[in-house]
This record gives sequence, C-alpha cells and structure tokens, in this order.
Amino acid sequence: MSRYIATRAIRGANGIVAEAEALLKKAMAEKGPKAHVAFPNTAYYLPVIYGMLGIQVTKLEDLVPVLEHAKNLLHPVPEENLWTPYLGETLDCGMATLLAAEAIEGIRFALGEQPEPYPGLRLAGGTSFTSPEFERAAGDGHLNGPIDDIQLRSWGIQLVDGRMPGFAAIVGAARTNRAAVAIVRELQRRNILIFLSGNVNGRSIIDQLHEEGVEMGYDTYIVPFGRDTISAIYALGFATRSALTFGGMKPGQWREILLYNKYRVFAFVLALGEVDDLKYAAAAGAISYGFPVIADTVIPQILPTGVTRYEHVISMPWNEIDAPTDEEKAAKLVQRAIEVRGVKVKITEIPIPVPYGSAFEGEVVRRKDMRVEFGGKNSRAFEYLYMADWDEVEDGKIEVVGPDFSHVPMEGSMDMGIVVKVAGRKMQKDFEPVLERQIHYFINGASGVQHIGQRDIAWIRISKAAAEKGFTLRHFGDILHARFHADFGAIVDKVQVTIYTDPKAIQEWLERARQAYHERNIRLANMTDESVDTFYTCTLCQSFAPTHVCIISPERLGLCGAYNWLDCRASHEINPTGPNQPILKGAPIDPVKGYWPGVNEVARKLSQGKVQEVAMYSIMENPMTACGCFECIMMIIPEANGFMVVSREDPSMTPAGMTFSTLAGMAGGGLQTPGVMGIGKYYLTSKKFISADGGFKRIVWMSSILKETMAEELKAVAEREGIPDLIDRIADERVATTVEELLAWLEEHDHPALTMPPLL
Ligand code: SF4
Ligand code: SF4
Repeated sequence: MSRYIATRAIRGANGIVAEAEALLKKAMAEKGPKAHVAFPNTAYYLPVIYGMLGIQVTKLEDLVPVLEHAKNLLHPVPEENLWTPYLGETLDCGMATLLAAEAIEGIRFALGEQPEPYPGLRLAGGTSFTSPEFERAAGDGHLNGPIDDIQLRSWGIQLVDGRMPGFAAIVGAARTNRAAVAIVRELQRRNILIFLSGNVNGRSIIDQLHEEGVEMGYDTYIVPFGRDTISAIYALGFATRSALTFGGMKPGQWREILLYNKYRVFAFVLALGEVDDLKYAAAAGAISYGFPVIADTVIPQILPTGVTRYEHVISMPWNEIDAPTDEEKAAKLVQRAIEVRGVKVKITEIPIPVPYGSAFEGEVVRRKDMRVEFGGKNSRAFEYLYMADWDEVEDGKIEVVGPDFSHVPMEGSMDMGIVVKVAGRKMQKDFEPVLERQIHYFINGASGVQHIGQRDIAWIRISKAAAEKGFTLRHFGDILHARFHADFGAIVDKVQVTIYTDPKAIQEWLERARQAYHERNIRLANMTDESVDTFYTCTLCQSFAPTHVCIISPERLGLCGAYNWLDCRASHEINPTGPNQPILKGAPIDPVKGYWPGVNEVARKLSQGKVQEVAMYSIMENPMTACGCFECIMMIIPEANGFMVVSREDPSMTPAGMTFSTLAGMAGGGLQTPGVMGIGKYYLTSKKFISADGGFKRIVWMSSILKETMAEELKAVAEREGIPDLIDRIADERVATTVEELLAWLEEHDHPALTMPPLL
C-alpha cells in the first residue's frame, strides 16, 4: 500500500466523517431528530448503511449510531516517519467514508437538497415505453440522484445476459469536453453502464457532457448522480443493492456483500483530473468492494492484487497515453480499465458511420432533432423476416429499392419496409418471429437512430446528427447483416436485406408480411403446453441468483418477460450447453396444478435442492420462484378472495399496504412463498394463468398502467373468460389503495371473485 495514498485517504476519511457529524447536528437542530430520511423509490433505506450494518435509517436520529460506527473505523493519519502496513487502516477509513457520505446524502434528502438541481437538464428515460413526444415531467431540471429500485430491477436482465457487462463510476472532469465525450462514447460502445459524479475545481464531467449535448439518463446508460464527490456513494449503493436484490444476501452480511461485488459485479472507478483527499478516501471505499481505480493523472499505483481481483490502483496520465487523438486515448484508457477489472466485453464491429452499442438502444430522437421518420403518425413502416431456401439467399447483399430520404424535407416522413431473408442449416420456421424481434434491438443500437414497435407498426427515426455523419437507409442492412451473423450465427448462415421505399413494392411486401404475421399468430395461439413434450429451463439469472430457475412452457413465459418458449428453443440451438435446456416433462402427475416429473427433477437439481416441486399453474401451492427482475408481482388479498397484480412501473401504494419495491423483497430471493409470485406480464393473457386457482377472474386489483398498455390483450382475455367488461370491474390504484376501498369497489362492481370458492 502506498503510504502517500494511505495518508491522503485517511485524512480524507477523517474530514468527511467530521463533516457528516456537523451536518447531522445542524439538521437535527433545524428539523428535529425524527425528520424523515429516505432515498426515493427504494425498499433498501440508505443502501450502503443497510447492507453493511443492517441499520434501517428512516429518521435523522437513526444516523447517530451509523456515524459512531464510522468514527470507530477511523485511524490516525500515519506519522511522517513511521512505516507500517497501511492497507487495513486505509480500507477501514474507506468504509468510514462511505458510511459518512451516504449519511450526508440522506440528510440532504431530508433537507430537500437532493437530487441536485440542474436547470435546463432533461434526463433521458423513464420506465414507460411510450411516444417520445411525452416527456416525463419529473426528471427535468435536476440530476438523477440515486438509482431507484425500479431501474435497478429493469437492468437486471441485461446485467445477467451480458448485454451490460459492468459499470464505470466516473469521478471528476476530463481534460477537455472532447475527451469527456470520447470516454463516455467508448464506454457506451462497450455497453458499460456509466455513473457520473464529482468535479475538479468546480467543473464536472456532467457539465462537459451537458455542454456537448450528450443525452444523459437511464435510457442512455449515462446516469449523472451529482456534481460533488459525495454523490459517488450512489454507485456503491447500487452495488450493495445488487447483492441484496439479486444475490440473496441479507442486510448486515457485509463480508458476503463485499465478496459478491468482488466476484460478480464488474465495476471500476475512473478518476478524471486531480485526486484530492476525499477522492482518495472514497476510492479506498471502492477498493473494499473489489472495484479498482484507474486515474488519468499521475498518482502512486497499487499493483499487487488481493482485495480487488487484479491491480488496485492504476495511473494512466492522459498526456502520456500514446495516441494522436482524444478518441484513441479514450479507447486505450477504457481498454485498460476493462482489463484491470476483468470485464468481458464482446463488441461486434458494425460498418456504419455512427457509434454503435446497446447503450444507445434507449436513446430518444426528438422531433426537433430528427432528420426523417418512417412510421408513426404520418407514414408507414414495417419489418419482416423470413426463412428462404439456401440458394435463394445471397449473403451480405443489401439493396435499397426506391428513393432514399434526401428528397424528404427536414423533419419529414416517408414509407419504408425492411425485409430480411435468412437461410441456415439449423434455421426453423418457428424462429422467424424470434429473429424478427431482434430487428428492434439491432437497429436501436446505432447512435442517433430510434426504433419503436415491431411488425407493421414499426416506427423509426434518424437524427440530423446521424444523417450528417452519412447514415443512410442502406446502413440498416449493414447493421442487420452484421448482428444476425454475430448473435445468431449458430442458426443463420446467410442474411440478405432489402429496404423498400418504392410505393408499389411496399404495398406488395406489406401484404405478404401481414399474411405471415397472421399465420404466426394462429400457430402461436395453437401452441399449448399439452401440444409439446418439452419445456425449457432458463438459468441465465444464476450468474446473479444461484438457486433461481425459470421453467418456461409455451403458455408461460419467463418472469422477466424476455424469454418465451420459442426464444428458449432458439437459444438452445444457438448455445446447446447454455442456460436454456430442454426438460422432457413426462406424463403429468397433476395436469390441473401443473406437476410433471421432469419439471420437478430439474427444479430440484438446478435450485440445489432449495425447491422440491413446482406447480406451473398455481400461486397457492409450490409456485415458481423469482429472483428480482419480474415484470409484475402477484399477491393474494385474502379479504377479497383474489389476487392483485402490481407492475414494476407503478410506484403507488397497493391494497396490501406495500409498494412494488417493498413487495419485491418478498417475492424475490429464489424462495417459494405461496400467495406471492413474480411473473412476466404476458402470462396474464395465457389460458394457463394460475388456472389451478381460478384463472384471470381472480384478479381483483391491477396497476392502471397494465390496463392501459395491454388494453387490447386484456379485453380478449375478458371475452375468453365470458365476462367482457371484466377489466372495468378490476380496481386499480386510482380507486383503491386500501383493502376497505378495494372491497367497496368490488362489491359495487360485482366482481366475480367475491362469489368464487374460497382461496384459503
Ligand atoms: S427467464 Fe427467468 S432465468 Fe431466464 S432470464 Fe428471465 S428471469 Fe432470468
Ligand atoms: S431473475 Fe434475478 S438475476 Fe435474473 S434478471 Fe431477474 S433480477 Fe436479474
């Protein structure tokens, strides 16, 4: 351990703990010791404190023992001439720094000073997938502050399937705006989540990116926490909650939580610009999580490994990076950081003139920034992928049939169709919709291109910036060709793409495509659990949640909503030893509740004995487990003889007296809890939806956002159940947030659950 670093970190820690104490004293005097302390939308209190010490901070006075603990961790600054090992002391001081920093942010929330105001800033992204014309009112004019649980869970699946290989906590400011942009673009290109905080002499990388017009927010994977170093604590709060949410750790298990982070959370700190005492102290805290620190200035390095998996502190002075441009320097810096952390990143090189990576998937192209759009209100766009005979497909051939968009006025629109023809030895007709759905993700990966919807309701925008860089229609083909080969090379060998803008050709192909969509719908609707002899496992989440396994059947998709039976079958073809393994279900033990010998056997084995049996169609008996990222949570409301369904996007109070975030703690963790279950939202529309417990008629309350976003599908379910106005008889948060209100509503609307056989 460098004595220099130890000295400065220990000094920084002593300073910040004293600052926290003083602030707490002042706040308690002003607001009273009982003043409420909370981060928004989280069930994990102040998460670092909760995870490390098991203390649930809800009031200012709860911080008193926390700061006592922090003080006990402090050590005196090493003496000038004394040479002893400092690592332990420094790490203790690092932890004290984290506790103090989080306490300060908690107090600032109590004082109404967080999240930090930032006039004029608009954050990209909420959790709703709606028209970009509807900006979220909240999220404007301030920085993000801590990550909320909703967002943490919706990132879960990307964190486990490798689409998001890790996160970088950037602290400080880059040499120039151009360098700042180069560094974040490089990280985005590798799909690394980026958290921003801190400043150097008052200037923050957040300011630099804002000035350069880089979109920040959840959707672009660039989250601005705050302009001081203290807000870097939110990154460690995120890491701590990962262990609690996905890893099944309990609050207070500090050792396990730190080890979980060291081995499963691929994070690192990029310190840009001068490193002061507080930054050293915070870095020491990060190191105890196993996160290395890479600085772009000259600082003493700590090369031996141990607490982190590889080197602890690396210095890579910007001026000395051997590269001619900022972009190339950024690439080298990021590459080094990734090596030091051992992050595995797969980049597919895409031959297009704009940056490419899944971090750009959530980018929104607003009307005023748009060069041209296809689909939406004023034009039509569709996409269609089909399988053809081997000789019919010319790999790599990309054609544009019809005019390009150069004649379309600025911000105008035109019709377009994207037709992809694939051939492959292992390709099957059933994979067509699976592959076609990927067009959305693939196209969205280009910076400055936005893709919404699918099939014949696709809606694509190209930004002015992308068009200026030379992005044209043909590049859709380049993207699709490269990505289908890279991601689905095991099932497709040849990919040919045609972009149609010629009105006559569009008409012809649209009819063909619609015919195919229709046939697929029928085929999928006819696919039942009885019609197949194989279900699939999904253990993708075991990298995070070692005992959780999803069982996926044609009529029940995975709880994350991202994997259905067809996806699993395709995924098994692509990667035969991967997470989606076939389950030969065998003769049913109980076809009503959904017990099969094959399913039980696999569940036992893959959950390491935690789960003995799974009932596919019941929530009341041996329900399927969940880990953390379910789209919805269902829970019994005994008084109403039915269940409620809460969507992840819904922050409101439910009749169970808990919000989604709080409920999630009960539903997750890979445990079976009868009466509580995490589900994918499309399971609601399945004929097998809790069929053993009475099916959809048991739903007495559901989040209004589900009613709205799935209106068509739910209407069809109500008709199938023989009660066409059923959805209108189900309560939501607008009419009932307590059991009393719920019961009154159900009585008044004559809900069928009231007269169904008792659940308990
Ligand atoms: S299907 Fe289940 S195990 Fe697979 S990714 Fe989704 S939640 Fe995870
Ligand atoms: S089930 Fe758990 S580990 Fe898997 S994606 Fe969801 S939250 Fe993450």
